[in-house]
Parts: sequence; structure tokens; C-alpha cells
Amino acid sequence: MIKLAIVSPCYNEEAVLHSSSERLNALYNTMIAAGEISPDSFVLFVNDGSRDATWQIIEELHKADPVRFKGVDLAHNVGHQNAIMAGMMTARDMCDAVITIDADLQDDLEAIPKMVKAYAEGYDVVYGVKVQRTADPVLKRLSAQAFYKLQKSMGVNAIYNHADFRLLSRRVLDALAQYPEKNLYLRGIIPQIGFPSTTVDDVISPRTAGHSKYSLSKMLTLALNGITSFSVKPLYAILWLGIIFLLISLGIGVYVIYSLIMHTAVHGWASLMLSIWMVGGFILISLGVIGLYLGRIFNEVKARPLYHIARFLN
Ligand code: UDP
Ligand code: MG
Repeated sequence: MIKLAIVSPCYNEEAVLHSSSERLNALYNTMIAAGEISPDSFVLFVNDGSRDATWQIIEELHKADPVRFKGVDLAHNVGHQNAIMAGMMTARDMCDAVITIDADLQDDLEAIPKMVKAYAEGYDVVYGVKVQRTADPVLKRLSAQAFYKLQKSMGVNAIYNHADFRLLSRRVLDALAQYPEKNLYLRGIIPQIGFPSTTVDDVISPRTAGHSKYSLSKMLTLALNGITSFSVKPLYAILWLGIIFLLISLGIGVYVIYSLIMHTAVHGWASLMLSIWMVGGFILISLGVIGLYLGRIFNEVKARPLYHIARFLN
């Protein structure tokens, strides 16, 4: 029978943790009674440097049922992706498969038995795919979908409308452990690993308590990693932009020569100013894109650890 680990990252989640743990507990009881998972399956909460009572709640849960609830306390806030990675790498040697789910349980719990069933059928990766996102705020839904499309056009191989709600088998986790990436974007890495994969539907519900822990800057960082860690197309785009500008300047050259011949060369202050600003702008944008990649190379070269575990309730 499969020993399942549910890994859940928590950043200031004291408002939802009690109800979330109760719902997961009930789900485990049902699945264990149905013989779908082994009785020693567990939930591993990863406390991502919360400043509220999150860790105390995890400690209480562990004390009440050390088999069912385990906890990892990270030394400081490292962000959603790294927190998930810490949880998965901790659970790797303790289970047959891991399911990652956000602590607010906005994802569909009914998808979890389906994921386990797909695992039993031989799938190593089971993606939860959001079928209707009406519970997400309109702006979030639209920007997310635009981003999935942008990714696709950049040649990034990621699953449409899938976030980080997924099952991974132990051998995928072992493969993942060999990826030394620092600018972590799991949604891009996992399709690259290969292994048989399938999807299950995930009906999103609204957050029951607390507010989103994904600030705009965290979301932008994730989006930038999602492109720049997997595609060099933005760098090539600069090259094309440069070529287009060169062609335009040839046309302008012809115009300048024509003006000289016709003795109308002095006019055109406006066009001069305009082109200085435009060309300057494009140069800065181009430098910026190069900077994006340079910064990422810098981070990868430093090869610093993604997280530090301060405490482990096993
Ligand atoms: N999270 C985290 N570290 C962070 C930010 C968020 O571990 O720095 C966790 C958070 O506790 C939650 C998950 O990531 O379990 C997703 O965050 P949230 O539900 O706030 O995002 P949203 O659903 O609004 O995208
Ligand atoms: Mg959420």
C-alpha cells in the first residue's frame, strides 16, 4: 500500500491551519479506511519563516498525533517554491509519493484520492489542473492565464492552469534532487524530468481565512523565473530588435542624404530628440534583459543552499 506524504508550505497561516489540518486528517481517515493509503501516511507542514503562531500550531498538531502530523521549521522565509522543495526533500526518504498543496487548501481535496489512484495505475507525476478559477480574483485569473500563454510562446514547457498542486513519485523526487537550480520554478522543471504523467481536475475554492501570502513582488519574481530559467528567447529578441533598428537607421540615412542634397538639412529637431529617447530606451531595455540573465547566472554560480532547516518534528 502506498505511504503518502502531503507537503504543505505555511507562511503566516495561523488563521487557516486548524481547519486545514482537520480537513486533511478527515481525508486521511477516509482514505486509510478505504485501503487507499497506508495508516502511517503523514502531513508535513513546512513553516516558511512565519512571524505568527504557525509553528506553535504545527508543534501542537505533532504533539497530538506525531505519526499523522510532522513539521519542518525553516530558518527564515525562503518563499513558496523553496519551501515546497524543502518539504519534498525532507519527505523523500519517508514515503512512496508526495502531494504538495497550499496550506489554505484552496485546491480540491477530492482530487487527492484521484491522484493516488493514478499513481497506483503507474503514473509518476499527477498534475492538478484548475478547471474553473471563478474563486480566484478576476485580475489574478487573467494575469495568470496571460502568463501561461506568454510562457508557451517563449517555448517553456509547462502545464496550462497547473500551479503547484501535484503528486510526485519517489523516483521523480530522486531525480528532482539532482537539479541544482537556485532560481527554482518547479512547474517548469517537473515536465522536463519526464516519467509518465497525467492530470486530474482541480476545482479551486476561495481562501477561507487570512489573505493571500503571495505579494505582487513574490508573484513577479516567480513569473520572471518561469521565463528566464527556461527560455533564452528574450535575449534573442534583443538581437532582432537591434537588427530592425539597424534597418530603420539605414532608411533614415537615405533621408538625411536626400535632405542634404535638397538643402533642407537643418530642420528636424523634433525627430532628433525623439530618436535619441527611443534608441536610448531600447538600449536600456536590452541591458535590462541581459541584466536579468546575468543576475540569474550570478545566483546559480554562488550555488548557495535553497533553505536551512532549523527544527524537524518527525
Ligand atoms: N507561502 C510560503 N512562503 C511565502 C509565501 C507563501 O510558503 O513566502 C505559502 C502560503 O503559506 C500558501 C502558499 O504558499 O500555503 C500559497 O500562498 P497563497 O495561498 O497566499 O497564494 P495564492 O493562493 O493567493 O496564490
Ligand atoms: Mg491560496
